[in-house]
Amino acid sequence: MSATTPISEPGRPAPTGAGHSPEGRSVEGAKRVPLREGLFEMPAALDELPRLIGVRCPACGARFATPRVICLQCAHRGLERCALSPTGTVWTFTIVHQQPPGSVMQVPYAIAQVELDDGPIVSAALVETPLDAVRVGLPVEMTLHTVRHDADGNEVVAHAFRARQGAR
Ligand SMILES: [Zn+2]
Repeated sequence: MSATTPISEPGRPAPTGAGHSPEGRSVEGAKRVPLREGLFEMPAALDELPRLIGVRCPACGARFATPRVICLQCAHRGLERCALSPTGTVWTFTIVHQQPPGSVMQVPYAIAQVELDDGPIVSAALVETPLDAVRVGLPVEMTLHTVRHDADGNEVVAHAFRARQGAR
């Protein structure tokens, strides 16, 4: 074999077509804005996942998805804000067949309780995942999905989870 291996640039290929810059600004100039401030962190780079914001105990390291003052594990007072793991597994789930009032999801869809890799269990819709692939223990990752556009044309995004690549 005398063929030489083509040398490619390290890193990821440049995004093509419509996409989003690391700042969350799409190539058309519209921005992605969170549905609710303070719930999650937008990804800082193209290859990063969004993360829910929780709290962490500086004494024992336990993490919680909802704001609290006292650690449930060691009773330490004074928990710190932290970004939670963007990956986890489906702990349990339900398939929604009736459209809840005001819901932006199209039925049928799955709502999962996801156990994050760093401990907390959070509830969110599953997107980009066939319903028959949803199971307890399915590895998932956080993603953002557009729920509507605001008056300025920005994409209003909410957090959801999807099957991790290669895990379906
Ligand atoms: Zn603690």
